[in-house]
Amino acid sequence: MADRKSLSYELKNGWKEMSSETRVDAMSFCKDYIQFLNDAKTERESVSVMVAMLKEKGFADFATYIAEGKMVKPGDKIYWINRDKALIAAVVGNQDPTLGMNMVGAHIDAPRLDFKPNPLCEDGGFVMAKTHYYGGIKKYQWVAVPLALHGVILRKDGTKLEVRIGENPGDPVFYISDLLPHLAGDQMGGSASKVVSGEQLKVVLGSIPDVKGEEDEEKVSLKENLLTLLHEQYGLTESDFLRGEIEVVPAFQAGDVGLDRGLVGGYGQDDRVCSYTGLRALLDLEAVPEKTAVCYLSDKEEIGSVGNTGARANWLENFVLELCHAWDPAYEMVALRRSLSNTCFLSADVTAAFDPCYPEVFEKGNSAFAGSGVAIAKYTGSRGKSGASDASAELVASITNLFDGENIPWQVAELGKVDAGGGGTIAQFMTDIGMDVLDCGVPVISMHSPYEVTSKADVYWTYRAYRAFMKG
Ligand code: MN
Ligand code: MN
Repeated sequence: MADRKSLSYELKNGWKEMSSETRVDAMSFCKDYIQFLNDAKTERESVSVMVAMLKEKGFADFATYIAEGKMVKPGDKIYWINRDKALIAAVVGNQDPTLGMNMVGAHIDAPRLDFKPNPLCEDGGFVMAKTHYYGGIKKYQWVAVPLALHGVILRKDGTKLEVRIGENPGDPVFYISDLLPHLAGDQMGGSASKVVSGEQLKVVLGSIPDVKGEEDEEKVSLKENLLTLLHEQYGLTESDFLRGEIEVVPAFQAGDVGLDRGLVGGYGQDDRVCSYTGLRALLDLEAVPEKTAVCYLSDKEEIGSVGNTGARANWLENFVLELCHAWDPAYEMVALRRSLSNTCFLSADVTAAFDPCYPEVFEKGNSAFAGSGVAIAKYTGSRGKSGASDASAELVASITNLFDGENIPWQVAELGKVDAGGGGTIAQFMTDIGMDVLDCGVPVISMHSPYEVTSKADVYWTYRAYRAFMKG
């Protein structure tokens, strides 16, 4: 914990702020969250699992509204999918949307390894897939751990193969080798960024030369044998990989960490922890809110929010414009601009939790601590706040007052010491289109590693914070 005397606000303990009933609720919430982490390891899987959750709660596809020219009315529950990789869900409020909305926005992509377009290679008795890493990873963390393959491949005949191998009991897993310590003298002497190179991240897919076990089989290469297997089992040819997106992710399951089960460990919590809590907050709204409540889930945050599924795309603006138009067909572009500039947006992304094993990179008086509640970052960015949106004092005041009123423990967060590094979120792209934006999310230990850790208290209080915000 920080030296409390140095803090200008009361740093609470998220567990101590819970009644015994609330604690039961929090534990049950996190059980569902862990299930979600195991069901949704990629952006595409997140969209499909979340759409199922939305449909179950009576949300309808907004694309149908648009196609049929159907109007929205207060209480309507809608979702809109962008290319199977990004998602918006909303509960239409009582107020005219041009008066602004309450939005929570997170991202559903996570650091990983992607197959290269031409991935297959053979060497030393192995057939392997070459990868290109996605997002900020420490490459050495991805070797010598069990890996799973997720994604899609469009076959030449137009059919789509959904890939998910390494998750079910009995499934094979995949693997990237690391050097034995006995021969790693040179490797261990290098800098950590060079210990494992990008080109060395090759995933072992196979090793048996005659996959059919037929002794008189003609001598063919290992790669050809694997291609035979891929063709027989999945109807794939080698060039089909060009039309695919195969993501390599850790194969291990998310679960409880610690004897007291107070922590969640699992892959991809940045930022599926804020995505899940944001969506659940919307799903669990009890009454029709005054302002339209929106959960926005973007893709490509980890590579700069680029592309038509990322937060820099105008898809969110298109949604707001379509929504205004569906509220009142007379509404055009001016309605969009008014709505955006009246909208308050919580940039729901994780921050670094103080790590007692590496205290030197944190400034305790302005760090978030695992277990101390939802973390609020007035600004993110690096160096001189580069890449930050820097929320206004007025906005910080209004959001912290809201949380105080609901007895939600919150804490301030800066991502490490001023000169230690830093990072950005989608906040800046939402301020570009005129919204009031504050970064607000869950502190994470070992962020961007294959196994990230969060406190269940923070997961739960973040959910409650987003729900209070959406309720208005
Ligand atoms: Mn993030
Ligand atoms: Mn990240």
